[in-house]
Amino acid sequence: MHFYIMTLFPEMVMQGLCTSIIGRAVEKGILSIDAVNIRDYAFNKHNSVDDYPYGGGAGMLMQAEPVYQAYQAVKEKISAAGPKPSSGGEETADVRGRAEEGKTPRVVCLSPQGKTFNQKMAEEFAAEEELVFLCGHYEGIDERVLEEIVTDYVSIGDYILTGGELPAMIMVDAISRLVPGVLHNDVSAEFESFQDNLLEYPQYSRPEVWHGKRVPEVLLSGHHANIEKWRREQSVLRTARLRPDLLEEAELTWAEKEMVIKFQE
Ligand code: SAM
Repeated sequence: MHFYIMTLFPEMVMQGLCTSIIGRAVEKGILSIDAVNIRDYAFNKHNSVDDYPYGGGAGMLMQAEPVYQAYQAVKEKISAAGPKPSSGGEETADVRGRAEEGKTPRVVCLSPQGKTFNQKMAEEFAAEEELVFLCGHYEGIDERVLEEIVTDYVSIGDYILTGGELPAMIMVDAISRLVPGVLHNDVSAEFESFQDNLLEYPQYSRPEVWHGKRVPEVLLSGHHANIEKWRREQSVLRTARLRPDLLEEAELTWAEKEMVIKFQE
């Protein structure tokens, strides 16, 4: 999967992302991350990319043209890279289709006004061959270029940050770990919080007793069916306690529904 991040602070994005699990996936060639410096497309001798907003108001706005030119450069990079082989060595139908139809990539504008990012969105974005992120700064970006290039507006929560770099990094991290081969064990991405609208069950590692607290007996039993049953119950109960809102969309058995009602009484 290929990420292109349009930003005024490419080093921030690259330093943040090219370590640990994501960094190793980049080294292995499973992912690529290309931070495109919007300032490289400034069209004045001062290299500035921001200006005062029409109509007055506080702060500066990123101008349309440098963002547009940075986007054109990303599009060229994508078409120069051409259709990518899937892991099996063959082109995917989607990629072939894109190349033939000259389709444009999905461009995600990080914005507090967007839809709030969640695991379902991460799953949907992970199916793309490439994703382009647009990080705003200052008071944001001239609306006209957004209208022209952006396909999705995504927020990471109802608060205001200084720039879109951290939100882009969060999205790249969450999406990347769903790309096959990025995690050592693909199963570990499958049974996590938000899967089926349930939070993950509690987990324990050695030693068996720590500060007088014992690991639940069932986990030491080696009885896989019982362990699965216990984990499912713990998941449901933990979700009822910490995120009851998620249960509205969760598929529960009658017994589990009764367990939740008892818990809430
Ligand atoms: N004036 C804008 C508004 O009220 O909607 C906020 C601009 S904010 C100071 C600067 C940039 O940070 C935004 O263009 C966006 O890229 C990014 N940003 C800030 N908060 C964000 C959030 N919660 N989610 C995603 N991006 C955010």
